[in-house]
Amino acid sequence: MKLRLLPSSFEADGTASPRQHSTCFVVDSTVAIDAGSLANAADEAIRAGLRDIVLTHAHLDHIAGLPLFIDDLFSILETPVRVHAMPEVIEILERDIFNWSVYPRFSELNNERGPVMEYVPLGNGHEHHVAHLTFRPIPVNHKVPSNGFAFSDGRSVAVISGDTAEMDGFWEIVNGLERLDALLIECAFPDRLGDLALISHHLTPSLLAKELAENSTPSARLRSKLGFAPDRSAKVTIERPSGVSSNTLAFSAA
Ligand SMILES: [Zn+2]
Repeated sequence: MKLRLLPSSFEADGTASPRQHSTCFVVDSTVAIDAGSLANAADEAIRAGLRDIVLTHAHLDHIAGLPLFIDDLFSILETPVRVHAMPEVIEILERDIFNWSVYPRFSELNNERGPVMEYVPLGNGHEHHVAHLTFRPIPVNHKVPSNGFAFSDGRSVAVISGDTAEMDGFWEIVNGLERLDALLIECAFPDRLGDLALISHHLTPSLLAKELAENSTPSARLRSKLGFAPDRSAKVTIERPSGVSSNTLAFSAA
């Protein structure tokens, strides 16, 4: 499985900037987890082959690229873009984004070959097949309806939290997984902005360290790849294994 964090800003020479304002992870160029930077950073492989987008929640930094991605592909789509999300998240998207005022309601529009967008509601506790992957939603603790995911290609297993504050049920599920190759936890605020983190239901590095010490099993701790934000300017930073190129985590069955 190859997991890539798409950049959301670029340097003057066009290379990816470490300033990460929005979130979009792409798995094997075919499935996106969140869509913050999807439209801005989609390469040709993604434009040609990615038709499934799984959302953790509806905050703008996680969905900003969704309307623009569908808009970009509108005339060439052979099949609809499938948006997999909890019913509460779909309701927010339809009410507040695809409402004809902010953007067209793509779920009601067709191109020459048929519908361009389709919602696939997720149920908590149920496994969902998305392309070649299996997703299991995991409840987290954020300001709006949100969930993380454990997902697998049948050989490797990764967990992504999405935005969250301290969690209970999350750890119970993560610690119960038979296999865990990567654990990505968004940690949006540095310790000096701890008050803001509490109000907005996010973690700081100190709060995350406490979570891990209290809840994760030693084996999960050892195998974790954690995302830390040293400052607000870099929302997500992945600690990369040596030899792995920029913004990419690759792992396979041992
Ligand atoms: Zn959020």
